[in-house]
Amino acid sequence: VLAVPAAAYMLQGQEASAAEPERTFIAIKPDGVQRGLIAEIISRFERKGYKLVAVKLVVPSKEFAQKHYHDLKDRPFFDGLCDFLSSGPVLAMVWEGEGAIKYGRKLIGATDPQKSEPGTIRGDLAVVVGRNIIHGSDGPETAKDEIALWFEPSELVSYTSNAEKWLYG
Ligand code: ADP
Repeated sequence: VLAVPAAAYMLQGQEASAAEPERTFIAIKPDGVQRGLIAEIISRFERKGYKLVAVKLVVPSKEFAQKHYHDLKDRPFFDGLCDFLSSGPVLAMVWEGEGAIKYGRKLIGATDPQKSEPGTIRGDLAVVVGRNIIHGSDGPETAKDEIALWFEPSELVSYTSNAEKWLYG
C-alpha cells in the first residue's frame, strides 16, 4: 500500500480536513488580565501541548462584545456581560492541537467557578460566574466564527513546533 502524504490529498481537493489542524478561540477576560493571570493561563495550555497560533491584547468596544456574545442576547445578564468584556484589556488567542476545542473547555472548567473542579482554570482561579476570567469556544462552528470575529486570517501563524513529534509520535 502506498502511503499518500496529507499534502497530496489537499492538492487533489480530497480529505482537506485531514490537513486542517483543530483551532479554538480562547480569551482572558478583563478580570483575568487585571488579576495578573495571563502567564498562569497561557502556561496551562502550553504545558498541555497546545500550540499558540495567534495572540493580541485588545479593549473590545461594547458593540464588539455584543457580537461576540450574540447567542446570549436574550439573557438577563447580557448587558452587564458586554459592559464587563469591554471594560478593559482582553487577551485574545487562538490555540491549535488535537481536541483543542473540547479539551480546552475541560482545562477551563464549568461556566460557574463554584461548579468547576479543582485543577481547572476557573476551579482554581475564580469564584463567581460573572468574573470567571476566561472564555473558550464551545464547538467547531463557534470556534470558526469567533476566530474570524477576533482575528484577520493574516494574524494566524502556521508553523511546525519541534515538540510535535514528541507530542503526537
Ligand atoms: P461559557 O463562558 O462557559 O461558555 P456561557 O456561554 O453560558 O458560558 O456564558 C458566557 C459568559 O456569560 C460566562 O462565561 C459568564 O461570564 C457569563 N454568565 C453566564 N451565566 C451568567 C449568570 N447567570 N450571571 C452572570 N454572568 C453569567
